Amino acid sequence: MKMNEFMWKKEFSNKIEELKVPGNWDLHVDMNLVKQKTGLIYTQQTFGSFRCSRCARTWSSSKVSVFFIINLNKRLRRGTVKMRIFKQGCERCTRPEEMIPTVTSDNIERVVCNLVHKIRRKFYEVNDQYQDQKPKIYGSLEGLHNKERCEACRDGLCKQQMLSCEYEQNGEQRVYEQNREQRVYEQNREQREYVQNREQRVYEQNREQRVYVQNGEQRVYEQNREQRVYVQNGEQRVYEQNREQRVYVQNGEQRVYVQNREQREYEQNREQIEYDQNREQIEYDQNREQIEYEQNRKKRDSAAPAALSVMGLVVGVAAIALMYFANKRLF
Ligand SMILES: [Zn+2]
Ligand SMILES: [Zn+2]
Repeated sequence: MKMNEFMWKKEFSNKIEELKVPGNWDLHVDMNLVKQKTGLIYTQQTFGSFRCSRCARTWSSSKVSVFFIINLNKRLRRGTVKMRIFKQGCERCTRPEEMIPTVTSDNIERVVCNLVHKIRRKFYEVNDQYQDQKPKIYGSLEGLHNKERCEACRDGLCKQQMLSCEYEQNGEQRVYEQNREQRVYEQNREQREYVQNREQRVYEQNREQRVYVQNGEQRVYEQNREQRVYVQNGEQRVYEQNREQRVYVQNGEQRVYVQNREQREYEQNREQIEYDQNREQIEYDQNREQIEYEQNRKKRDSAAPAALSVMGLVVGVAAIALMYFANKRLF
């Protein structure tokens, strides 16, 4: 009552290799496997045949449930598949032993192929157009699925019951993906805010830079203005110094002129003085000559003063007499 675990494992590793699934993957059979909190639940139905250990009756079923729980350790890149295939019991026997189905190699291959494609889709986000292969049916199927003699149906792990589990997991997956989109959105928003803040910071730095440059231009302008004022003041000072210089020069010319005039006046005065001296000399000389002349004349006149006085007297008397006689004859 052992299943052919070796065939399942071999087929699984072949398919992993054939479909180039990354990482290391292993498949283990656990005939007591139940639902777990972690791991991806995956169920299939395949075709299997049974033989009752009590009455040796054989039957086949297309609703042989195969149950998988799939886990992947992404850090170690190690994948694990736990598998359980469900037994069925003989309908004829009262207390039948539940028998492990015999699955043909081509149906094992189909189940494993579906399994590995599921792994590719769920863990490696491979989007191919693969459609699950249905089991190959051998012979004729008798009657309906007897849920009371089906281990999966009795344990709540048959295909129909597990579909709701898968749906819930898909819902969790959808929630996870929505959360991931939300996280991505928020990360992008943080990124956008960071970029905006950075643009803001850049803008403010540029503004500070512009303000600094403007202040610098202002400072340069004011320095230039102070410079211009200084230069103007300097020109003013130079002008005033030049004016003082000119005034000084003019004053100097004036002084020179005045000095020259004083000099001229001095020279004129000196010439005048010399002239006056010369004239006094000349007058003195003239006077001296006059004096000498008169001394000489007096000296010359002194020789005949008496004669002259006599002659004068005679002439006078004669004149008077003449006048007397003249007057008498007239009267
Ligand atoms: Zn039986
Ligand atoms: Zn069932």
